[in-house]
Amino acid sequence: MELNKGHNKPNLMFLSVFITLANDRLLCYNDYLEKANIMKKYYFLIGCTVLLCASIFALLVLLGVSSRVCRHELIQIASRESSCIEEGNIEYWQCTKCNKIYKDGSAETEITEVVIPKIPHALQKVESLAVSCTEDGRVEHWHCTACQRNFSDETGETSIPNVIIPSEGHQFGEYKYDYTEKIYSRACPKCTDTENVAAGESTELPLLARDETELAEVIASVAPNSFIKLANDITITTGMYAVVHRIPDGGTLDLGGYTVTVKNNGGFVLEGTKVTVQNGSVATDYKNPKEGYSLYVGDEGENNSVTLKNLDCRGGINVYNCKATVIDCVVDNSNHTYYALWGDMHSSITVESGVFMGGENGCVHSYSGPIDEESGEELKCFVTVNGGEFHGVIHATDLTVINGGTFEGDIRVTLYTSNGLALGKLIVNKDYDGELNIVCGSASYTLAESADEEGNRVYEMQLPAEGEEMP
Ligand SMILES: [Zn+2]
Ligand SMILES: [Zn+2]
Ligand SMILES: [Zn+2]
Repeated sequence: MELNKGHNKPNLMFLSVFITLANDRLLCYNDYLEKANIMKKYYFLIGCTVLLCASIFALLVLLGVSSRVCRHELIQIASRESSCIEEGNIEYWQCTKCNKIYKDGSAETEITEVVIPKIPHALQKVESLAVSCTEDGRVEHWHCTACQRNFSDETGETSIPNVIIPSEGHQFGEYKYDYTEKIYSRACPKCTDTENVAAGESTELPLLARDETELAEVIASVAPNSFIKLANDITITTGMYAVVHRIPDGGTLDLGGYTVTVKNNGGFVLEGTKVTVQNGSVATDYKNPKEGYSLYVGDEGENNSVTLKNLDCRGGINVYNCKATVIDCVVDNSNHTYYALWGDMHSSITVESGVFMGGENGCVHSYSGPIDEESGEELKCFVTVNGGEFHGVIHATDLTVINGGTFEGDIRVTLYTSNGLALGKLIVNKDYDGELNIVCGSASYTLAESADEEGNRVYEMQLPAEGEEMP
């Protein structure tokens, strides 16, 4: 019993411990249940969130895919054959929106390659050719008959733009003139060619004359529009008017800077239709040192018209039966009696420029007879001055017109009485603003001033009043 007693005590303790423990456990279990409930709610919320995100993601993916599906707009590209310089292509269709390429117009078979490669050049070999004075040469090359290009190699790899070696032509030396044949010749040192050119067709290759005889011969023999040039100073030994040089129509006599000296009281007498005499000097040694002219222009020939250009005339110029135009000439007759310019019958003189120095009698004078009764022709010379520098008296006879120029001496409106009476008349252009000292050429006559329709100043000699004496 003791044992039981003793034994009973520990059993109670155990029970209390057990109850205590069980109580604790029960408390823990309740706590656990509470916690589990919280966790459940938590996991549920996470699940819902994940599901929502997944749904949104799926929706976005679906939207993205659907937006990437192209509704093609196809254009047809025709096939093109290739050549030796360009690739070709097969026929295909291309979408203008997504740029994809299809073999067919229904966009069923997508393709990536449409190019047809180039074909080789059709090459032919061309041999080289040596260049000459007259023909181009060429380098050896290969020529494609399809694209017409040239290549330095037979494979057609290296194109060469230029295969021609250009001819540089002859290297002719100086022309030599043959006075007998009247031709110019020159040889090429690179080849055997010689070039011959007939003389007289250009100012560069004129017919040449070295003396009076050659000049006469050349002038007599050449064709119209020829160019004749002096090759020396020459002396005219024939007497006054003994030789008249009629230059062919349209021809030019170039004095070449040389001097023609006239001897034996002669004159250098030239005529022709539309001819030019230029670039040199004419001088004279008068037999009578006071009278005469160094240059006579015009003669009995028909339709004489001569242009005198860039001449230095020591001795005056006499114009007869000729229309003369004077440009840039220096005419000096100041040591003699006669004029710088004398205009004779059937003539006109137009002065464009130059310097004119007259002799004792004056600077310019022109004949002004009446109308010829037999022929009905006007035996006059009309003078027109457009420019120039005049030293000495100007005798204005039947008609003198001043448009320009400067005048050191008087302008004397003059009677002319050799073949009957001709009254002098002068017209001064309304635009002329130089100084003019216009005087009446005869004390018994008066000078009337008026204006013509254009407003030019007109000066005319008036007959003496009745009862007065003729001068
Ligand atoms: Zn497309
Ligand atoms: Zn080719
Ligand atoms: Zn040559």
